[in-house]
This record gives sequence, C-alpha cells and structure tokens, in this order.
Amino acid sequence: MTNPATLSSEELAELRRRYRIERERRVRPDGSRQYLAADAEFGYYADDPYARETEEREPLRDRVDVAVIGGGFGGILAGARLRRRGIGRVRVLEKGGDFGGTWYWNRYPGIHCDIESHVYLPMLDETGYVPEWKYAPGEEIRRHAVRIAEKFDLYADAVFSTAVTSLTWDETSQAWIVTTDRGDKFRATYVVTATGTMSELKLPGIPGIENFKGHTFHTSRWDYAYTGGTPDGGLTGLADKRVGVVGTGATGIQVVPKLAEDAGHLYVFQRTPSTVDVRANRRTTARDVGADHDGWARERRDNFLRITSGEPAEEDLVADRWTASAGLLEKLLPSFCRPADRQAFEAAYEVADAVKMNEVRARVERIVADADTAEKLKPWYRYACKRPTFSDTYLQAFNRDNVTLVDTADTHGIERMTEHGVVVGGTEYALDCLVFATGFSVGVSGVHSGRLPVNGRGGVQLLHALAERGPRSLHGFTSNGFPNLIQLGATQSASSVNYTHVLDEHAVHAAALVAAAEAKGAVIEPSREAEDAWLAVMAEDAPDHEWFHAECTPGYYNGEGRGRPNAPLAYPHGAFAFHDLLKRWREESMDDVLVARKAAEA
Ligand code: NAP
Repeated sequence: MTNPATLSSEELAELRRRYRIERERRVRPDGSRQYLAADAEFGYYADDPYARETEEREPLRDRVDVAVIGGGFGGILAGARLRRRGIGRVRVLEKGGDFGGTWYWNRYPGIHCDIESHVYLPMLDETGYVPEWKYAPGEEIRRHAVRIAEKFDLYADAVFSTAVTSLTWDETSQAWIVTTDRGDKFRATYVVTATGTMSELKLPGIPGIENFKGHTFHTSRWDYAYTGGTPDGGLTGLADKRVGVVGTGATGIQVVPKLAEDAGHLYVFQRTPSTVDVRANRRTTARDVGADHDGWARERRDNFLRITSGEPAEEDLVADRWTASAGLLEKLLPSFCRPADRQAFEAAYEVADAVKMNEVRARVERIVADADTAEKLKPWYRYACKRPTFSDTYLQAFNRDNVTLVDTADTHGIERMTEHGVVVGGTEYALDCLVFATGFSVGVSGVHSGRLPVNGRGGVQLLHALAERGPRSLHGFTSNGFPNLIQLGATQSASSVNYTHVLDEHAVHAAALVAAAEAKGAVIEPSREAEDAWLAVMAEDAPDHEWFHAECTPGYYNGEGRGRPNAPLAYPHGAFAFHDLLKRWREESMDDVLVARKAAEA
C-alpha cells in the first residue's frame, strides 16, 4: 500500500528497522556517566579566558532588595523588569567577568544564533535596537546583553567573577543571607535564581584523556591565544596544525567550517550526525522585519511562539525552518496531538517525519561529493530526536582536501587517547590539538541540582525537601518553605526553542511578584495546597514522551538513550498557553501567594 505522502508501508517499516539499528549501535551502558565534569584535575577547562584580572574587593556585608543569581539573559531580564517596577537595589551575581551568560562563555569561531535574531534578542522594542542579520553572530548578541544591562543600570550593583555558595532564609530579618566564594555575606529581601539549564560544560570520558600531550580546550572556552583569529575566523595559529574536533551538535556544526578554512588538516570525530538543514542567513532591513511601529518585536516573537507551540496563527512572520517544522518538533504537546486522534496523529506524524528526514538525507547526498563520506553524514533517526541544526557551510567543508570525517559510532565514540592523538577502530590519528564540542550537562545547574545549598524556613534544606517530596512549586517559580525565592527556568513551567522569550515572560512574572509583595508589605510563599493543585494541572494532560524517545538515538533529550522516567513535569500545553495562564493568574489570584511578614519586620 502506498501512502499518499509518497512513502509505502514497506518503506516506513524499513526506516523503523534502520533507526533501531542505528540506535543500538550507539546506546552505551554508562549513559550520562560517560561524561567528565570540568572539576578537580579537569577544573582548568572551565577557567574564564575572557575575564580581566580578578580585582580584589571588600566582601559585601550590606542588604539589597533583590539578589539575582546569574548574569545571562535570565538574570539581565529579571533585573530589567524589576527596575521597570521601580525596585531600587538589584544585585546581579555572575560567575563570568561580565553579563552575557552563554553568550559570554561561547565565543567560538562561527558562533551565531540559529533562532531568528528579531525574535531571539529580547527587549528590542525597549532598546530600539534592530538586528541586521536574520541569524545574529554571537558577539552582536553578547553586546545586546550588555546594552540591556546598561540601559537598566544593572552594572551599578553587579558583582562578577563571583559564585554564590549558599542561600539561607533568616526569619529575624525576613531576608536571605547570601554567601559567595569571594567572602561576601549579605542580605537580600528577595532572591531570583537565573542559573541557566545547560551552564556546566562537559568533557567526553575518553580513556586516557589525561595522557594526550597536545593542546585541548572546550568550545565554550575557546583558546584564541593558541588558534589566533576571532569568532569571524582567521585562525592563523592552526595553519600547520593537525586539529581534531569531537562533537557534531549545534556547536560542532558552526565550528567545523571555520576550522576547515584554517587548519593544516582537520579530523572531525563524529558519533551521531546531526540533521543539517538550510540556513539561508542574510542581511535584513528594519522594513523586512516590520520594525516600523511600537511593539513590532513583541508581535513577531509572539507569532513565532504561537506557531512553534501549535497554536493557530494567521501568518508566519519568521517563516524559517523552525516554523516550517513546528509540527515535527513539538509533536508531544497536546496542542499538536489532541489525545482523541492519537493513533491517526502518530501515523501521520511518522510519514511527515520520514518525508522530512529523507529530504535532510538527500541534501547530504547532493552536497557531499564523496559517496562514502556522504553516507556517514546521513542522520538515521526521527527529526525531533536531536536538536536540529542549520548550515550552508558545514556539509560543504567535507569536500575540502584538508578535512577527514572519522566515524566513531561503532566504538561508541573515540576509543582512547594516547600521548600523540586519538584511536578509533584501531587506527591512531596523530593530532596537535583536540577541540571538545561536547556540550553541557543537563539538570546540574540551578537550585534544584543541589549544587547550591538552599536553607529555607526553619533550616529546611531544599535538597532534602526534594529528596523527600520531589520537586514542588507553584508554576515552577516559588515553593512552600522557601519564602521570597523565585526560580526562573524550565522546571515545572513550559519551555520553547526560543528560550529568551520564555525567560523574559518569567522575568516579567518575577518582577510582578516582587512588586506585589512590596506593595502589600508581604512575603511571597505559595501554600502546600497551591503546589498540589499545580502538580495536578501538570499531570492531567502530561504527554507520554517515552514511546517517542525510546526509539531515538542517545542524547541529552532521552537520558543518553535510557529514557528520563524521573524527568520533572512541565506544563503540558506549551509556552504560549503557559504565558497566558500566568498573565491571568497575576490579574486574578496573585494575592494568594502573599503572606504577612513576621512581626520582627512588619
Ligand atoms: P551537544 O548538542 O550536546 O552535542 C555534543 C556532541 O558531542 C554530540 O555530537 C555528541 O555525539 C558528541 N560527543 C560526546 N561525547 C563524544 C565522544 N566520546 N565521542 C564522539 N563524540 C562525542 O552540544 P552542543 O553542540 O554544544 O550544543 C549544546 C546546546 O547548545 C544545545 O542545546 C544546542 O542547541 C545549544 N546551541 C545553540 C546554538 C544556537 O545557535 N542557538 C548554537 C550552539 C549550541 P552524540 O550525538 O553521539 O552524543
């Protein structure tokens, strides 16, 4: 029987078989434990190559209105939105030497954002800035982060190169005591955590990694002193070098073309090929993006979120590969997959997915001249198994004489490292330098990871509470027993590929909570019942991810192929509906989380 979308049931069965084989080739028994953290003997991988000499300063002993932990877009937006609400002393604490978060750390050659800059860069309406490229280079995004911080005067109280080491609620002063690795111990009436979801780099646990005598670094700490050049390229230091790169995710795809241009020889050690779709980056004018009236950026951003959350939209303003593939990427949201048509939905989804993946594989064949190399670069899994990537130079790089693709799937990655290089399939590849484009750990940053000790009301430790009761919150932001602590991020809320939009909505919400508490002289703390009600909302329509992820190649989406049975619940109807829900809640029910301050200060 031939399917109307040009795939026969035999072809679909064959694809399923092939996907299963490719998955089995890659699943490792050690799952996420295969990676190394950048600490102890590997701690130097996380050193900050961009910070100016750390200046000595007196430890802070004062009191501020709000301490914001993290100076990436989450923290910057929280600070900006608090300022707009008239909150005076807002102190952002950041590990890096400046604002920017992921865009501070990631400055590798070729770095760009793969979400359209006119929807990714926040506060364009408020700053009057109009990006000039459809997909902005990293430096432009980093400068925009600084622009917002300057506009809202966040430098005045910010502290950089400083890591928060503990948070302790003090009942007497009705404030959090914040300690840091720079000897600070100050009070903050409110704490907003904006520590990111993937902020800790990870290294591949390749046996013998410590034996290699050549040069190594992680892409999020690019060593321009060694390579020469800038994020635009010109890596003259590599002209006579044999360079290896491990990792072909969204970062690897951007780095490889730049390394290929300048390295003496480049070896790309691939374990799983990415889907590499058309990029079509181009210069844009204010007219192209409709930047001719107040609120244009908000409208564009809302339109993108609407489409990528499966909500009806009259037009597609961004019109790129994300919006075109929205149905494939967010297929698990009830907004795409109405439970009543589940079976029909899954069948139609499988066909649409196969058509898309055939297109992606055909693109590899069209671009890559060598048939054997092209075969290895074809991804055999469903589109949403891994984060899609976009490039008009990556596949082309494999047509150069100085670039070799080394497939490592059969050995679950590089087998081992020696003094001189790496070994794959019994062959040693001699290298001068090996770049790790191996990504970041998921779920280890933020207060829920337990890395930052949080002691709530009555000395209750957050980690202990989590172990006993699991994550509990109202909307993901606030928890009983942890007054005036507001968490920004994806846990128990809803996320989107356009994560800065999510962060901005969360920042608006955090600022509204603080402003309401200030106006009422109250403390923010949801009741146990409010937490229970929120858990029930999340559980009610919780999509079943397992059927999908169980067939995917390993990666951080599916716990390296082992599933994520304990993954935290999320709001099941997508970010667009979640933001709407928050807005209504702020209008109707926000007073429910405001409780009277204790007599000591009231
Ligand atoms: P990633 O997606 O986690 O990719 C890591 C890569 O390293 C994968 O290709 C992985 O292969 C490979 N790898 C790990 N261990 C290996 C080993 N032992 N041998 C061989 N290969 C190994 O990391 P990323 O590319 O840095 O991306 C991280 C996050 O940043 C993602 O969420 C990404 O979307 C985001 N990002 C966004 C942009 C943007 O433009 N918005 C740009 C860059 C990155 P397997 O697939 O086989 O595990």
